[in-house]
Amino acid sequence: MEPITPSFNNIKNVGLPDFCFLEHLDENEIMNNISTRFHKDHIYTYIGEQVVSVNPFSKKEHLYSDQTLKSYHNMYMYEVPPHIYSLAQDTYKKLLLTKENQCIIITGESGSGKTEASKILMEYITKASINNKINEKANSATLDRSEIIMKLIMDSNVILEAFGNAKTLKNDNSSRFGKFIEIEFDEKGAPISGKIQQFLLEKSRVHTRAIGERSFHIFYQFLTSKEITSKFQLSDDPSYYRYLKDSMCFNVSNINDGREFKLVGQALQSLGWTQEDLDSMYRILGAVLLIGNLEFCNDQEKANVDAVNVKNPSILKKIAALLDCNEDQLEKSLISRSLTLGVSKRKSSIRVLLNTNQAMETRDALAKVLYDRLFNTIIEKINKAISSDIDRKNIESMIGILDIYGFEVFENNSFEQFIINYSNEKLQQLFINLVLRQDQEEYIKEGVEWKFMDNYFDNTPIIDLIEGQPVGLLKLLEEACLIGQNTPELLIQKMNQFFGKHNHFESYETTNNLSITNQSFTLKHYAGSVTYNLEQFIYKNKDPLYQDLINTMQSSKNNFLLSLFQLDFLKASNQQTGAKKIPTTMASQFKVAINDLIGKLNSCQPHYIRCIKPNDEKRPGHFDYERVKHQIRYLNMLETVRVKKAGYCNRQHYTRFLARYKMIAPATWPFWNGTVKDGAMEIAKVLIPSPIDRQAECQFGKKKIFIKSAKTLFHLEELRSKQ
Ligand code: ATP
Ligand code: MG
Repeated sequence: MEPITPSFNNIKNVGLPDFCFLEHLDENEIMNNISTRFHKDHIYTYIGEQVVSVNPFSKKEHLYSDQTLKSYHNMYMYEVPPHIYSLAQDTYKKLLLTKENQCIIITGESGSGKTEASKILMEYITKASINNKINEKANSATLDRSEIIMKLIMDSNVILEAFGNAKTLKNDNSSRFGKFIEIEFDEKGAPISGKIQQFLLEKSRVHTRAIGERSFHIFYQFLTSKEITSKFQLSDDPSYYRYLKDSMCFNVSNINDGREFKLVGQALQSLGWTQEDLDSMYRILGAVLLIGNLEFCNDQEKANVDAVNVKNPSILKKIAALLDCNEDQLEKSLISRSLTLGVSKRKSSIRVLLNTNQAMETRDALAKVLYDRLFNTIIEKINKAISSDIDRKNIESMIGILDIYGFEVFENNSFEQFIINYSNEKLQQLFINLVLRQDQEEYIKEGVEWKFMDNYFDNTPIIDLIEGQPVGLLKLLEEACLIGQNTPELLIQKMNQFFGKHNHFESYETTNNLSITNQSFTLKHYAGSVTYNLEQFIYKNKDPLYQDLINTMQSSKNNFLLSLFQLDFLKASNQQTGAKKIPTTMASQFKVAINDLIGKLNSCQPHYIRCIKPNDEKRPGHFDYERVKHQIRYLNMLETVRVKKAGYCNRQHYTRFLARYKMIAPATWPFWNGTVKDGAMEIAKVLIPSPIDRQAECQFGKKKIFIKSAKTLFHLEELRSKQ
């Protein structure tokens, strides 16, 4: 095992296990250390209690063997080499010790290793929390409730990745949704329940994506099953389906779609899905693919020359059969739209015919909504299986694991990248607030000796630019969606009018010499500049779903499909009763969700894993110095190390400190009559008898004691447990 104590040889040979051990702190030293370690196969390094992880792009089985896992059990971070296991162990230990909610925030750009890290974390927490399973042989015959819950949570990863991940140009298994998994524990620390929350699936991927990318894995997976394709009379050739064919990528070298599909089936069955449910799901997947093959042609007989009909009725027939709905009604809802005119009692309804573009838009809207609802239903069903109503009163605390889509920049960036990068800005801001700002502000407030370090990049101006009130980019976008007749050109003009001079916003001349209007703007994000093409923003943000399509889906005889549209029944009745309105556009819904999440994370004890992508080619062992340096910079790593190195790992109110540790000092046990601060000082005297060492390790603020190193904190706990 790698020794944790630094020595000269470590630095030369394998680098230091904690960046805080670096004596001369500058960017070069950080880069040298991370590069040395990477080349010596040490992909993890600490910054105090944070773990920095560099994606090796190759399997490192020895790192995750049972033997390695065991060696982290019940150890403190400072005793063992850097690993995600030690962070997981630390999180779990703190949960047991403090009974406070913990969260693990995994950040890094697309392809840096967040999702892999989240699975490694869950594996450790599972083994550590279930009756000390770490020391038991695997495959014990009977599973208790905790084991079942954790198995279901682990199994759900396979399902979520199949339906929510896809190959992009950045990552072969890129998460196209954000997820926050909560594992809830009873007072003994046994997992008894779980919850998964998802954030805005990139559903437009169902119909459009860049060349060389794939749609969601599940489409390619289920087409590998001859049994299913023949049962539902579907072609098993992905290139038959326009939605899959357009991006010209069907296989991924290191992904075995057939094998994955078997695992997905098993996982769904273990969640209690019946064959009927599975068949309904295959019907929906097949229908989504066939919807993409629908074409429209002008109908000469109709007075309106633009009006269209479905050109390939045999496909329409198949779709209607798969969805168990009326074929004529389906066609009608794809090629026409009913409009309500007038108000209250004078309302009347007319039917307008759609032109080709409108019909294609409606067709894609149907495919998107079917897939999105299916995804949400799957998560609902997972939640039902892993949550426990009976045990709710026994839930003491939880560990939340956040794994969202990483920051990404493509040649063409649209609304989806805007949302993804906005959420990464929010997490970066949370990190700055929790790690770099709040700690330091507290030292000053408490009167602890401290020189404020503010030499870090603060992304608040970018967040304000995006979600600011009364005017921010989201607000302008929202307005553009609510006012009819709005165009990308008008929106960009508005953006220019308000933010033309903003340091993080850039838009070029709105009209060039050829009178071609520019529809893009650039945001200077914390992680780099991204130019967004506004063309589809308004449409994607509105995300129109036409009532006629909903009505058609609600007329289906398939119960599973009907359940996907149950919420619409509810919404309609809410509208009638005047219930509180939820935000209508995608971005404003997302803003509410991400701010709720930030609120939740703020109320937990945070733990951080910061993932780094060593190169863009996914090449094992290759360390692209400039790419890593760029990430080190925008992750504010130098400043983080500075603050952590100089800072205190723990702070506690004197009252709480005294109550917990009073048995350590004879002066405070069993009663202490002086001030709580003096009492804490008495305990510290027993903890560290040498006044010089004590002064270096403990600071006494106005209301709190500050402890410098984790080692001292754990020593304190040991003394307590010996009493
Ligand atoms: P995105 O934001 O696009 O979802 P991500 O940060 O979640 O990206 P992952 O999907 O976790 O990235 O990792 C990308 C790929 O890198 C994995 O599919 C795997 O091949 C490799 N990888 C990541 N972490 C590790 C690891 N610890 N060991 C070996 N390979 C890894
Ligand atoms: Mg991911």
